[in-house]
Amino acid sequence: MTDTMIDIQNLSVRFGSNTAVRDCSFSVHQGGAFGLVGESGSGKSTILRTIMGLNPDWSGTIRIAGLNPHKTERKQLARVVQMVFQDPYASLHPRYVIGHQIAEPMRIHGMPDPAGRTAELLDLIGLSASFQYRYPHELSGGQRQRVAIARALALNPRILLLDEPTSALDVSIQAEILNLLNRLRSELGLTFLIVSHDLAVISYMCEELMVMRNATPVERLTRAQLRSGEIASDYTRQLIAAV
Ligand code: ADP
Ligand code: MG
Repeated sequence: MTDTMIDIQNLSVRFGSNTAVRDCSFSVHQGGAFGLVGESGSGKSTILRTIMGLNPDWSGTIRIAGLNPHKTERKQLARVVQMVFQDPYASLHPRYVIGHQIAEPMRIHGMPDPAGRTAELLDLIGLSASFQYRYPHELSGGQRQRVAIARALALNPRILLLDEPTSALDVSIQAEILNLLNRLRSELGLTFLIVSHDLAVISYMCEELMVMRNATPVERLTRAQLRSGEIASDYTRQLIAAV
């Protein structure tokens, strides 16, 4: 088995005549956190959605824990990689209690003891077991994002793709969720690919990052290079100045 959990080589993605991602390459090792940062429309979410098999028109190579996601059964892929979205309200069903929503993927996959594991997952993300009886509208934004994270972890995936995981939250809550994610990464040995327009979020969370602009990778940096100012592109300098 390889130590590389995410390997993207020469990825290009098109929507009709529009190229949304152009010749993008990076890899993430087991337990690592890699960030994609850039302004709105630069192609970041498209990379995540293409990894999940949601965009048909692409070229290049994608390997997730050694698997080609486009040739892997959806159910098998779901046990390896899960996505967390910006808006937890949109990703939770308003009419079902939290416990039902966390347990649902476990039931679909025939995992043993979904109820017991739901209580464990709530504990893991810092909510008491009584939250399983509540509805999404009874929770704060931060609590809802915790629940979305618990559900993403239900099948014990090794990789999380996080798309602007704190952008919809109040600034005061953002750090709480980022710290929760960091703790989960180290406790569970997860590998993260995180997308944000916010360089402060990416540099807090990720050891390595790629700056995207107009569908194109601008530059790849380690956090150490970022902090010591070893930066090649003027565009990256502009992003730093904006933080
Ligand atoms: P980001 O996440 O960096 O804000 P996106 O990846 O969402 O950017 O979008 C990149 C480009 O691809 C944009 O020009 C967007 O309009 C286009 N795009 C994204 N998804 C689709 C789609 N399903 N159909 C057509 N165009 C899309
Ligand atoms: Mg996006």
